Amino acid sequence: MIDKELLEVLACPVCKEPVELTADGKGLKCVKCGRIYPIRDGIPIMLEEEAYFEGEESSSSEAEETG
Ligand SMILES: [Zn+2]
Repeated sequence: MIDKELLEVLACPVCKEPVELTADGKGLKCVKCGRIYPIRDGIPIMLEEEAYFEGEESSSSEAEETG
């Protein structure tokens, strides 16, 4: 579970807007761009490359990393 206080200090790294907990509690959704940042082991992953959009669930398999 994510602390409300923590939520308040988190922001989307892309547009610097606040994020809110998704309905299933598994991610944090930017109120502006709609990116969803996954929460792993209770830790929000606030990285653009980790974010996904609704209906575009990121697969658990590792993506190829380049660069
Ligand atoms: Zn955003």
